[in-house]
Amino acid sequence: MIEFDQVQKSYQVGGRAIPALHPTSMTVQAGEVFGIVGHSGAGKSTLVRLINLLERPSGGRILIDGENVTDYDAGELRAFRRRVGMIFQHFNLLSSKTVAGNVAFPMKLAGIYSRSEIRNRVDELLARVGLADQAKKYPAQLSGGQKQRVGIARALACRPSILLCDEATSALDPQTTQSVLRLLADINRELGLTIVLITHEMDVVRRICDRVAVMDAGEVVEMGPVADVFLHPRHPTTRDFVFESENIDRDEMQEDLQKASGRILRLTFRGENTYKPLLGHVARESGVDFSILSGRIDHIKDTPYGQLTLSLVGGNLEQAMTALKAADVDVEVLR
Ligand code: ADP
Repeated sequence: MIEFDQVQKSYQVGGRAIPALHPTSMTVQAGEVFGIVGHSGAGKSTLVRLINLLERPSGGRILIDGENVTDYDAGELRAFRRRVGMIFQHFNLLSSKTVAGNVAFPMKLAGIYSRSEIRNRVDELLARVGLADQAKKYPAQLSGGQKQRVGIARALACRPSILLCDEATSALDPQTTQSVLRLLADINRELGLTIVLITHEMDVVRRICDRVAVMDAGEVVEMGPVADVFLHPRHPTTRDFVFESENIDRDEMQEDLQKASGRILRLTFRGENTYKPLLGHVARESGVDFSILSGRIDHIKDTPYGQLTLSLVGGNLEQAMTALKAADVDVEVLR
């Protein structure tokens, strides 16, 4: 649905071209939730603002549904922008308009909807985001989570096929973040909307994204299905994000590993395997003793996973590893 073909962007600052996005090729599939994660200044906003042409690329082509949108004239661009909704970290609501007025605003601006169409759509959207009883309030009277729900309703007003989310939960507390992410996931599923979401938190990616691109200094350094990238990060920047999201202190972890004896393995269980009593069974069969150095059981979107770091001593280690692999457990030897 969204295709970047060697797209690049430089900003002119004081007569010099400062690169913000190096030539990048990538594809976002229709209906997926695509995450872009990176530190501040990595180029995430630039990339996402290129999708709706708030920024023009300095080179390359951007294809949406197979059409080269960089060639659009002003009229085509206006129509195209109605197909792309956007929500922001600080909500960007109009303080002088009510909740209903904010949601109606892009439809009025488009100039192609009747008053009754607008009224019905606003009612429908406010019900969808759980704010049916707040229509007459002003943004200042709402909580952060409610403001973002208004932002989402407004972004959906003109029935876009793409929703861009720019750090949409970064100003919200953890519980509100969860409920907003759940709403986005529901909308993605029910409306088949394609969502591109930029964030500096891997945890947001883990909760709702299907695929992720990791950005560093204007480049996509790693890209793939969230489970692959999250459970087996390859690039140092990706590793930093994963460790950070799991609250792992690397120095402490190294110390723990040094104290442990025997072989050290990291086991990754995915899906139903997460709940099976595999480890005890394998330990009994192979005579290997194990102690758990670190571990986590959680979900990546709807799929459960477990990741354990173990030290193993005695018994038949080869037999234990073979049995685990045969049961579809990823086995990495750390030492
Ligand atoms: P992120 O969203 O990951 O924080 P940005 O895309 O905002 O990163 O920025 C990428 C780089 O481009 C940064 O070095 C930033 O300073 C620069 N940049 C972004 N917008 C502009 C602009 N309008 N003019 C000049 N430089 C910019």
